[in-house]
Amino acid sequence: MPNYDYRCQKCDIVEEHTHRISENPKIKCSKCKKTMERLISLSAGGFIFKGGTPAIHDREKRLRKKRGEELRVKQEERKAESAQVQPNVAGFQTDSWADAQKVAKEAGMDDKSYTPFVEKEKKKKIKVVQS
Ligand SMILES: [Zn+2]
Repeated sequence: MPNYDYRCQKCDIVEEHTHRISENPKIKCSKCKKTMERLISLSAGGFIFKGGTPAIHDREKRLRKKRGEELRVKQEERKAESAQVQPNVAGFQTDSWADAQKVAKEAGMDDKSYTPFVEKEKKKKIKVVQS
């Protein structure tokens, strides 16, 4: 005889009952005594989906892979950040990022891209003064 899963909507519990296919018994919830609804049994078709479908496993694997890649990218970004970038204008070294920005501006280059470096430099200087 096949197994059927019955679910109580009120208690949100699932109970397994065994009876003939032709039978359609009214299974009552052991907790609240309400008639339970029969769930469409996946095992009846020969497929057992307990513990998640293979599709979910694949999705989870992909997500984990993605997370791993994101972590690696972040680590590389951090490495690049911690690496000391000397103040320069198109490869020509300057004394400070503020100087580099000035030179870039005078040369008619995009000096806005230097702003984050200049800001960082300012913060560093403040830190030095404070300590
Ligand atoms: Zn119930």
